Amino acid sequence: MFCVLLFFCVVVVAVVVVVVFVVVFVFVVVVVVVVVVVVVVVVVDVAVAGVVVVVVDDDDDDDDDDDDDEMEEQIRKEETAFRKGSKRKRTQHECDVCEKSFSTASNLKTHMRIHTNERPYECHVCEKRYRQVSGLQYHMRTQH
Ligand SMILES: [Zn+2]
Ligand SMILES: [Zn+2]
Repeated sequence: MFCVLLFFCVVVVAVVVVVVFVVVFVFVVVVVVVVVVVVVVVVVDVAVAGVVVVVVDDDDDDDDDDDDDEMEEQIRKEETAFRKGSKRKRTQHECDVCEKSFSTASNLKTHMRIHTNERPYECHVCEKRYRQVSGLQYHMRTQH
């Protein structure tokens, strides 16, 4: 009789333990799913915001891939220049290296820094360097 009672107790304890484990497991899964969803939403928000900032501010913040950004920016400027050019005559300023045309000598000078890798605008705080004043201004607004 004692043995049966003991066995019954063990079974009850085992069932309770299993139930507790299942509840904890479900709770953990729910928490993980919620955290993942929140993280994904935040990351997507930041990414979208980042893209918007890049488009609005001509971001020149990242040393590794800003060549591409800058090329895209130059293409945008060229398109703008082309639209303006259709309204009035102007002198073309052509790059000797890649034969792109620019509406102003200043745009061409800025563009040439892509080829010369010149970065005249330096952050006085952390000494990061930028080709365009807009890049430095964006850096100062966002990093310091
Ligand atoms: Zn060029
Ligand atoms: Zn800095």
